[in-house]
Amino acid sequence: MQYISTRGGSAPQSFTQAVEMGLAPDGGLFLPERLPDLSGKLEGWAELPYAELAAAFLGEFAPEISGEEWRELTREAYGGFADEDVAPLVRLDERTWVLELFHGPTLAFKDFALQLLGLLYKRQVARTGKRLTVLGATSGDTGSAAIHGCLGREGMTIFILYPDGRVAPLQERQMACTGAANVYAMPVPGTFDDAQRVVKEVFGDREFAETMHLSAVNSINIARVLAQSVYYLHAWRRLPEDVRERVEFVVPTGNFGNVLAGWLAQRMGMRCGGFRVATNRNDILYRFFGTGVYEESEVAASHAPSMDIQAASNFERYLYYLNGGDAERTVAAMRELRSIGRLDVGGVPAGTIRASRMDDETIAATIRAVKERYGYVVDPHTACGFGELAEGRASVVLATASPAKFPDVVVAACGVEPRDATLEALKGRALERWPVAAEAEAVKAFLRERSGR
Ligand SMILES: *Cc1c(COP(=O)(O)O)cnc(C)c1O
Repeated sequence: MQYISTRGGSAPQSFTQAVEMGLAPDGGLFLPERLPDLSGKLEGWAELPYAELAAAFLGEFAPEISGEEWRELTREAYGGFADEDVAPLVRLDERTWVLELFHGPTLAFKDFALQLLGLLYKRQVARTGKRLTVLGATSGDTGSAAIHGCLGREGMTIFILYPDGRVAPLQERQMACTGAANVYAMPVPGTFDDAQRVVKEVFGDREFAETMHLSAVNSINIARVLAQSVYYLHAWRRLPEDVRERVEFVVPTGNFGNVLAGWLAQRMGMRCGGFRVATNRNDILYRFFGTGVYEESEVAASHAPSMDIQAASNFERYLYYLNGGDAERTVAAMRELRSIGRLDVGGVPAGTIRASRMDDETIAATIRAVKERYGYVVDPHTACGFGELAEGRASVVLATASPAKFPDVVVAACGVEPRDATLEALKGRALERWPVAAEAEAVKAFLRERSGR
């Protein structure tokens, strides 16, 4: 299995190489050259514990990593999750389920990908003998999950940029109160898109990236997407058989990585009803799936900060498939998008993805309504998934974060204060912040200094 770039201008790479490179050299995103047909294997995987399922699935994508090594990696990655099932599927009523993806160390779904990625980095350091500099931008949860994937690991230093004042206070604490010497939490002025732009610029300096052994940790790494496909398969196999083929997965969405992972699983043979992209007021994807026009606008802060995004970095992968795997068309589309901030794909894309949006007021009302109706407390991101639950249709809403990460909004909405012991412990610790200008040169200088290069 080789990995090709959405822009067609890079030589095919192995899984190991694609993971190490993060972004393809031509600026595109890696994808498997073909998607395996897993429909014949799903039944045999039905009873595997989560980590074993992950090992079986990921083994399809990286023949150079043995089955035994995959099992070691996934057992270590998911062994520390607080729930024995790793991703429990909770039934709320006869046709509504919640897939709880928040039992990892930072209480959000990004732990699924980043615990594994941290271990793949560790494998890389052992393999190459070279120190690794991990750099990423975050709107909140990616940064903390990435940090906890790399925490205290020898041979790597991690630098995470985030928009100052725009991540939830507890999210910032998860990044800036680790006490680990290999972690730098770096607030920058502006929005998440500013932070992400700077990170992209730093990676754009090939020489710098090479001398620093720079690795990307944002949602573009192909290992992240594939690791996330696993919990869709996990949930799907737990559903009653008559529900599987028509169930809709509802995915609170920002960078489009999570829903893409499910959509890929569907293309590999997980027969389901489809997907709904649930956005907050930053509704670029909602507008896209309603009109076929992808048009960037200003990012507005919302109750669901991890979805405050107007330039979804994984969208290019979807676009590549939408263009029938035509890299040239993808290049042209991305160029158009970059130059005018707008892309018209010529009508609503056919397929199985719908979309919904939710403003802050409705998020609060929904947290309250879900609590009243089911006695179940959701976080503001997950709440977005509870809008427009399809009438009569079976739905699995992905719970992307624990309500304990966003206590202010949750208490105001439903009067219940969600608590979590690991978060409580963070409140007493000092913040260690490393503010930096939203400029590539300033970030590069800081990385050099801190890495002693
Ligand atoms: C990152 C995040 C999202 C958005 O996921 P994408 O893969 O970027 O679409 C939604 N909810 C929470 C809690 C998140 O941390």
